[in-house]
Amino acid sequence: MRRPLIAGNWKMNGDPELAGSLINACKQAVRDHESVDLAVFPPYTLLPLVATEAGGGRVRVGAQDLSPHQKGAYTGEVSASMIKATGATMVLIGHSERRQWHQEGPKLLSAKLKRALDEGLTPIYCVGESLQQREENRTEAVVGQQLALLKSAEFKPHLSEILIAYEPVWAIGTGKTASPEQAQAVHAYIRGILHKVDARISGLVRILYGGSVTPESASGLLACADIDGALVGGASLKGDAFAAIAAAAS
Ligand code: PEP
Repeated sequence: MRRPLIAGNWKMNGDPELAGSLINACKQAVRDHESVDLAVFPPYTLLPLVATEAGGGRVRVGAQDLSPHQKGAYTGEVSASMIKATGATMVLIGHSERRQWHQEGPKLLSAKLKRALDEGLTPIYCVGESLQQREENRTEAVVGQQLALLKSAEFKPHLSEILIAYEPVWAIGTGKTASPEQAQAVHAYIRGILHKVDARISGLVRILYGGSVTPESASGLLACADIDGALVGGASLKGDAFAAIAAAAS
């Protein structure tokens, strides 16, 4: 019912040579695994090259962020329409590194989500708790708060166009993966929230898990009922590792 999506967040890494070899590995992986979709999120400067190489097939391409503004005097920003013009079709919104280092909060993230949807880019909206929040048993409260914007009249009709990534902050780039049980519990909670937003659509929304996913940890996580794919950082920079994660999803 929900096709698995394995998405690679390259963060501030890569050059044209690496991009070329990674995109070739992705194209081979989708040929090898009919039932899985892939997406890559390179830095802005590599988007035109990667989107051209991907060629509009089952390897989708997205940006790691976007401006909440349409155009104008916003030095350093990149608009949704500029992203779309590169051939990219997706965008990450609310990644914890943006929340943490750029103080991105609900108001700004709502504006970014609206820009993405207005422009026809498919957003992956990222949520997740810090280690302290988990230790204080506040995981559901934090994730619930981060998802609250989806309940607004503005986004409710667009639920089917949005993907969610649950990425516990303590698992990102740390080598500590959430156990399948820990991840599934939060994914089920997220699915419950989506159900309250739109019971008809909630079963169709893909919820990805992110946080130090490797070929070794992928199959246990991807076997869980509400885990519909992965958002992968470090391992997405190695073609063979990313392809092995795709294989685990098939
Ligand atoms: C990420 O950046 O979204 C991520 C999950 O990174 P890593 O896989 O390296 O933890």
